Amino acid sequence: MNLKINIAQLSTELEILASFSDAPAPAVTRVVFSETDLRARRYVKELCANAELTVREDAVGNTFARWLGSEPELPAIGTGSHIDAIPNAGRYDGTVGVLAGLEAIRALQRAGVRPRRSIELVLFTSEEPTRFGIGCLGSRLLASALDHSAGEMLTSDGRSLNQIRSSAGFSGPLGDVPLCDGAYAAFVELHIEQGPILDRDRIDIGVVTAIAAPASFRIFVEGEGGHAGAVLMPDRRDAFLAAAEIALSIERIARSSGSIDTVATTGVCELFPGAINSVPSRTRLDVDVRDIDQARRDMVLLEIERARDVIASRRGVTVRTEPINADPPAHCAPAIVDAIERACAARGLQHRRMISRAYHDSLFMSRIVKTGMIFIPCRDGISHRPEEYAAPDAISHGAEVLADTLASLSSL
Ligand SMILES: [Zn+2]
Repeated sequence: MNLKINIAQLSTELEILASFSDAPAPAVTRVVFSETDLRARRYVKELCANAELTVREDAVGNTFARWLGSEPELPAIGTGSHIDAIPNAGRYDGTVGVLAGLEAIRALQRAGVRPRRSIELVLFTSEEPTRFGIGCLGSRLLASALDHSAGEMLTSDGRSLNQIRSSAGFSGPLGDVPLCDGAYAAFVELHIEQGPILDRDRIDIGVVTAIAAPASFRIFVEGEGGHAGAVLMPDRRDAFLAAAEIALSIERIARSSGSIDTVATTGVCELFPGAINSVPSRTRLDVDVRDIDQARRDMVLLEIERARDVIASRRGVTVRTEPINADPPAHCAPAIVDAIERACAARGLQHRRMISRAYHDSLFMSRIVKTGMIFIPCRDGISHRPEEYAAPDAISHGAEVLADTLASLSSL
């Protein structure tokens, strides 16, 4: 079977989807449930209907487009990604997984394939945390990793998720969103790498074996403020300097975990009162720690806590940590990793096993279904910027491998 991707059509559809944007091209801004997002969703649903897929939406706007298999009662094979985009982003993040997923289904249809299992394209709601401060909103709810109380707890500009989703046309209880057991037999997501490895090493396809997950938290340091001229150095309890030492110790701990897969970032530092002539009395650090090994990541968290306490007592400040989230990392299903590798080999595509260092909806899908991810190169690894670019050839290769993988999984 030689499935052919219509890359001209797929490229045109990516371009049209990118035109649904609240920022001028080439930038894309498409925040979930904005008027622009809803118009973009209508466009994708129209494409799905043209391919004779049956479209359904759930209470949070996750959209499912199903191509019925010859044994429709069997758990389906899922594929898909997201179309929301952070402010001033590019046009390929997420969208490639949705539109190339649709094109993979159309390639199967054109080849006269009738899959045994149904194949379903999924458009996940709000993968980006822009609006509600939490990433992967739709897939978290599908995987029961988030409770239906999120409908009232999560807010944006003073309105609850429940109010916002219902004015966007998505009503019904959030408690109905979780997928039932056995909804899918497998899930495969195609995505741009968002890192430099494939582009630099000229590899066509990245076969993802694990998805790192962040544990993020805030550290509040409280010392004593005072006049920058009057308080002498031996008498100071400078909250910022303690925080600075903590940030350096976080770097040291991550670097000495024994694995290159451990990363830790102090991305936010807020000082109070934030005046040139005032000793900082309070400081807040926001920290993100990631790894593909949960035990190692948790060990790093523990060491950060110890270092934090030592520094605090030496400098006479008090510290307090508040967790933001701590999702477990995911491992891809070996059977799907194998199916993707076989598809690459059959097409003579260069491929390499790799880790996803960004998280995706697959992180949550992997909790309830055997999951795999296909990465394609993007130029210089740039993502979340207007310069984000994936070449038509790269997208075509990704869609081919996805189509072959869906064909083989749907026949099992
Ligand atoms: Zn994405």
